[in-house]
Amino acid sequence: MRTNCFICSLRAYDFDKEGVTFAYHVKHEHNMWSYLFFLNYLEEKDQNEYTPHEAYVAEIVAQTRKDSAEKQADKEKDKAQQKDRDAARWFPINRALSLQQTNDELDDRLENIEKKLEQYVKIKLFF
Ligand SMILES: [Zn+2]
Repeated sequence: MRTNCFICSLRAYDFDKEGVTFAYHVKHEHNMWSYLFFLNYLEEKDQNEYTPHEAYVAEIVAQTRKDSAEKQADKEKDKAQQKDRDAARWFPINRALSLQQTNDELDDRLENIEKKLEQYVKIKLFF
């Protein structure tokens, strides 16, 4: 908080070079306690009595909280799915020793074909 404004994130340096002290900015322009007080005030106030500006801010705050809660729920869902996958890792899903051998043989055959193709291309290029 000594190098950046808590509210707008601008650097202290940006204010100092414009002739406004950072201390003045964080105390009078973006006082974080004023913002906190305002949020608390909105929570305490009856929504039906909001001014248009208060309703605007309250809606943004509510949407932000909702988005944040959804992100958190998604993260927890991903974690649970990862745990399930980890728990089942020992289970040979899509794996079988007999097929693995076949795949190894296939790899060997493909490698041989690639070598023969390379040789063929070299012969065609140089002769
Ligand atoms: Zn600021």
